Amino acid sequence: MAGPISKVCVIGAGTMGAGIAAQVANAGVPVLLLDIVPKEGSNRNAIAEGAVAKMLKTDPAPFMSKGAAKLVETGNIDDDLAKVAECDWIVEAVIERLDIKQALYAKLETLKKPGAAVSSNTSTIPLEKLVEGRSDAFAQDFLITHFFNPPRYMRLLELVTGPKTDAAVAGKVADFIDRSLGKSVVRAKDSPGFIANRIGTYWLQVAVNAAMDLGLTVEQADAIGGKPMGVPKTGVFGLIDLVGIDLMPLLQKSLGATLKPDDPFHATVRPIPLVDKMIADGFTGRKGKGGFYRINREAGKRKEAIDLATGDYRPSVSAQPPRDKLPALIARKDKTGEFAWGLLGAVLPYAANLVGEAADDIVAIDEAMKLGYNWKFGPFELIDQIGAANLAKRLADEGKPVPAILTTAGERSFYRIEGGKRQFLGSDGDYHDVVRPEGVLLLEDIKRTSKPLLKNGSAAVWDIGDGVACFEFTSKMNALDGETLKLIGKAVELVSTKMKALVVYNEGGNFSAGANLGLAIFAVNIAAWGEIEKLVAGGQFAYKALKYAPFPVVSAPAGLALGGGCEILLHSDAIQAHAESYIGLVECGVGLVPGWGGCGEMIDRWTKAGVLPKGPMPAVAKVFETVSTATVSKSAAEAKELMFLRKGDGITMNRDRLLADAKAKALSLVDGYAAPTPPEFKLPGVGGRTALSLAAHGFHKQGLATDYDLVVSDALAEVLTGGDADLVDVVSEQQLLELERKAFLARVRDPRTQARVETMLETGKPLRN
Ligand code: NAD
Repeated sequence: MAGPISKVCVIGAGTMGAGIAAQVANAGVPVLLLDIVPKEGSNRNAIAEGAVAKMLKTDPAPFMSKGAAKLVETGNIDDDLAKVAECDWIVEAVIERLDIKQALYAKLETLKKPGAAVSSNTSTIPLEKLVEGRSDAFAQDFLITHFFNPPRYMRLLELVTGPKTDAAVAGKVADFIDRSLGKSVVRAKDSPGFIANRIGTYWLQVAVNAAMDLGLTVEQADAIGGKPMGVPKTGVFGLIDLVGIDLMPLLQKSLGATLKPDDPFHATVRPIPLVDKMIADGFTGRKGKGGFYRINREAGKRKEAIDLATGDYRPSVSAQPPRDKLPALIARKDKTGEFAWGLLGAVLPYAANLVGEAADDIVAIDEAMKLGYNWKFGPFELIDQIGAANLAKRLADEGKPVPAILTTAGERSFYRIEGGKRQFLGSDGDYHDVVRPEGVLLLEDIKRTSKPLLKNGSAAVWDIGDGVACFEFTSKMNALDGETLKLIGKAVELVSTKMKALVVYNEGGNFSAGANLGLAIFAVNIAAWGEIEKLVAGGQFAYKALKYAPFPVVSAPAGLALGGGCEILLHSDAIQAHAESYIGLVECGVGLVPGWGGCGEMIDRWTKAGVLPKGPMPAVAKVFETVSTATVSKSAAEAKELMFLRKGDGITMNRDRLLADAKAKALSLVDGYAAPTPPEFKLPGVGGRTALSLAAHGFHKQGLATDYDLVVSDALAEVLTGGDADLVDVVSEQQLLELERKAFLARVRDPRTQARVETMLETGKPLRN
């Protein structure tokens, strides 16, 4: 077998191929992207080039940075196919046609280097068909790598090997997809639709049928089939709108053609005239004129839903999700209960029957649905909520077949905790440990087996081994408050005396969206200015305590790290960020300025980076530009360009590997660790403030900034330029903190700031007053 994967070729620059190529480039690996020569025009590479150009304009962006796009080399299969000889992995993502794929493989067989892996992104064609006519040597290097759309953002990858696939080749590809592309690799068997789409398509079909048969509205169906089952609130109809209504019949057709005649799927397929008409009229969902839901722009952006009986749109009427737990929900004797049982009573047994056929074990099935369809619980975790015996009994009572694995489970659950370890029930009837991939460390697992070292209502500190502690935010939405700050103080004390290093990390959807503004606005409403001042000063004190602690601190964000959540990163010795980290100092957006030391830390970063012209103004101007516009990075790579991350900070592609990487980074800093020395700032003073103000007025003139934006940005400019300081003065860190506090407290007293904060809390959107 050849060495590691250092160059990749993707063939087919459509939706999937282009997205896969972008993700390879995001990993910093060069990639060759090929498509056919277009029938018209003189540019023979037009299709692949066009795909890259289109991706640079797509939102959400397939590329994590503009620099990544430069790693994609484009070409066409007539002129450039021989270049596959340079590649260690060739991904085929051409249209779903067996003859075209087979013809391509025949050419690849003569051109690729031995041991270079070839994989297909097919959704429906069995591997055994794909390798028909190829040599054993080719079959050894061949596998299926099934990405989900969009490849950058969807975490699931289904990997299928054939009887001849070399385990080392598959292992090499799996490892690259896991570590470099950041996907969770789930091993699937060579069966139609693999795991997630097989169950997902069935689920959607059953739900649509049941909603129609019961006369439910789409809102009612989505309310029942969404939250109570741990399904994203798009539910069923919202999801179909998202993926495209026109895909439904296509998926059905391809699955229908390959599934065995006795598969329960066939019974769910029936003509739905409404759906046919919607597709024919261009109502294909969000990408079309509308779907089951639509935003009616002619009616003032009114949200509308389709009437399933008449096919007419009407104003959307939101439905409350039932609050019943699953056993009670499916037992209800009303339409809600009937729909819930109609859905779960079909989908869960369907999934249960796929153990052995589509996957080796229940864990793979659960993972596939959680990662591929964003279900909070996999089918077997849902069965555990109902009770395997309970489900089996109801199926038997209704004269329906009981899946073998339910009988195997009997009165037992599919998962259990034994000796602090999570175990799953195998088809052999025994429990086995759920094994994490090598090198994966999860706080979730640590929390199962240990008690926190410290804990209060907003945060906890855990021992993650080897002398490293982990500081976890535990408040709602990971908002930061006085309790968080208090525990930071205690953590510093604890780690100073008993441990070696600290990692700031959590497994919430977002690292932290910042300080708890709800509390702040409450204090404002009762004019508790002293409390607010205490919170600002307390944050500054706690963050500086972290910064100057006698041990290394590494912060490891994933998702949003905003405001105070960003400032804690800025006070760490190093950051190990998940590639999907969205970092920013967004205070100006709500009429405030960063108040927990963010201003000084950002100036210090830009000053010391050594990438700007000399003198105090360039760094200050950079920070002003980013912070006054509340800019949030759209990736960790972009956060580096914005200097939230420094050059030496690390980026982890796979979310599950973030904690282990952060811990390793922290340990690497332990030997010879010395806390940083406080910076002294040379700031541009009043002259600099005038220059920044001029720039802000320029934006205002163009209509890009409101009147109050000017007030807020001037407050920020005052801090960043050092207040009344003169160019020759040295401003200490403490003086800068004082300026921050003063500016923050002045702004928070302004009713226009309060209006912004209230709007943000109520709607989640900024108020442009
Ligand atoms: P697409 O139609 O968007 O793109 C297919 C591309 O292949 C086109 O650019 C076409 O010009 C090119 N092509 C056709 N013949 C070619 C050849 N001989 N050599 C090189 N390029 C050729 O299709 P897609 O949605 O990107 O799907 C590609 C593959 O991925 C299919 O196998 C599909 O089943 C699978 N897949 C799709 C999705 C999805 O959501 N779209 C998800 C997972 C897997």
